[in-house]
Amino acid sequence: MSVRKVHAGSGIDRNVMLEQLRAKADRSEAVDLVVVGGGITGAGVALDAALRGFDVVLVERGDFASGTSSKSSKLVHGGLRYLQQGDVALVREALRERSILQRIAQGRVEVLPFLLPIFTKDGLFPRRIARALGSALWAYDTAGGWRIGRLHRRLRKSGVAKMAPLLNSDRIAGGYLYYDARADDARLTLDVAATAVREGALAVNYCSLTGVTVNSGAVNTVELDVDGSHISLQTRCVVNAAGVWAERVDDLVNGELAEPLPALTVRPARGVHVTIPWELVQTQVAMVLPVPGDKRSVFLIPDKPQLDGTFDVAYIGTTDTDHSGTLDDPACTSDDVEYLLRSVNAAMESSITQDHVIGVWSGLRPLVTSDDDTEGRTADVSRRHRVDMSSSGYVRVVGGKLTTYRSMAEDTLNHVERILGKRKPCSTRKTLLADRNPQLLDSIRSNASSSNLPLHSTLTETDVVYAVRHEAAIHLVDVLTRRSRLHLLHRDLAMECAEPVSFIMQRELGWSESTRQQELQSYTDLCHSEIDAMREGIQ
Ligand SMILES: Cc1cc2nc3c(=O)[nH]c(=O)nc-3n(C[C@H](O)[C@H](O)[C@H](O)COP(=O)(O)OP(=O)(O)OC[C@H]3O[C@@H](n4cnc5c(N)ncnc54)[C@H](O)[C@@H]3O)c2cc1C
Repeated sequence: MSVRKVHAGSGIDRNVMLEQLRAKADRSEAVDLVVVGGGITGAGVALDAALRGFDVVLVERGDFASGTSSKSSKLVHGGLRYLQQGDVALVREALRERSILQRIAQGRVEVLPFLLPIFTKDGLFPRRIARALGSALWAYDTAGGWRIGRLHRRLRKSGVAKMAPLLNSDRIAGGYLYYDARADDARLTLDVAATAVREGALAVNYCSLTGVTVNSGAVNTVELDVDGSHISLQTRCVVNAAGVWAERVDDLVNGELAEPLPALTVRPARGVHVTIPWELVQTQVAMVLPVPGDKRSVFLIPDKPQLDGTFDVAYIGTTDTDHSGTLDDPACTSDDVEYLLRSVNAAMESSITQDHVIGVWSGLRPLVTSDDDTEGRTADVSRRHRVDMSSSGYVRVVGGKLTTYRSMAEDTLNHVERILGKRKPCSTRKTLLADRNPQLLDSIRSNASSSNLPLHSTLTETDVVYAVRHEAAIHLVDVLTRRSRLHLLHRDLAMECAEPVSFIMQRELGWSESTRQQELQSYTDLCHSEIDAMREGIQ
């Protein structure tokens, strides 16, 4: 299937978005749809809605992707694990979506070889395990893994050692190599939101939904808080795409919907990742490593390739545990870090400690539970999504995966059409996603000050200016954690860049000196809270 050629778009200009939102509210103009939640799910829904010809507004109470959608393992994958759980339909769907994403997000979905090492058992080659893994990988390829253009293959011990020289050579019996893909989750979310804007949607970050007014049994108005002011916007329909916050958003509905919405329980499952310097693991490929004493495995993924064939960092993830604390900014504890490092140290000739950790991130999976899975391991709860609707103008979509956001959006819009009527058919499969606009980048570059030196190899003054003008970044943390991934991959370097980035943002956004200082302080507080949470429990 070919992709539709489109103009690059000019990103998301937050001032323009706000102006248009206020103008709609002032004219008491009813929009078709308000989507709540600017993670990958809400951004995907807004894009599908705009392409089908609906007048749609996307609102996000924090920054785009500031919820779970910047805290994933960043894999665009079928999930070999789900095959082992017997969920072939989910794997097939995800592998189909992986290949659609490779096409529509050209250049931003990178093929990632994965090594599945086989370890000896009591010094012997574990034939049964090797055969089972081989069968699982054939099934993965057959379910759609083949679409990536390469099939899995068996490796001898020497082949494994070549790719991952620090794997414990006494314990390695051989391995398999298979292929999946990776994308920057926060950037993908932003690109999907920017594409929605290009197609006519409004997308506003730092804009909270505070209430949904129901009139004569049907959704009528949403109440929004943005930049300290309040906006009432009339709408025919609301889509709740608020991830782990979905039940809270349901609670904001004031009044009885003529057709009640089915009840939902979201079970938040915490997942933590840590970043370490690549020299400690020296693997050329991503790896799936077993967790000692647990029936799970973790990924070890090299990142930031260098010109000499090495990498800058590697990240390890993820944990999968019930989360009972605050939904905002779940912490990464020392137990989480120990769990991840233990798996790597058991498989490799390494003794990586918490002192080697240079970055962390922690997110909550919005797992949809049925009566059967309110207990037991969160890892065993299905990763499928669920769409519920009330014909009175309210639709809710929860669960799923980053990888399957497009098909989740298609399913959601099919429900929305039952309320608003049909317009155009779904066209997200063949619509190229917006990327940073090269002409706008060039124009910023040519007007940049003489100090347009890289703040870091992945972050220049041009990037910061572009983030503010065309990617709706309004806080220091937006630039350091989501427009660039510097904070996740190397917190100390991000802290070093914080001051120069704050000066550029001050110039662009007209911050007073005290605002600039507050921004620096809140970023420093975030860094310290991460460090403190990790240290808790260490004597
Ligand atoms: C550790 C971990 C690893 C993962 N790894 C992968 C992976 O490798 N590949 C993969 O495919 N999937 C992965 N996932 C799953 C994937 O990340 C999630 O399914 C996806 O990001 C969820 O997106 P979402 O938009 O539904 O939720 P979110 O990204 O959380 O978005 C919901 C948004 O709603 C906003 N919101 C809440 N209340 C309001 C309000 N009142 N007004 C306005 N906005 C509001 C929140 O601020 C939030 O930004 C992983 C998940 C985790 C936790």
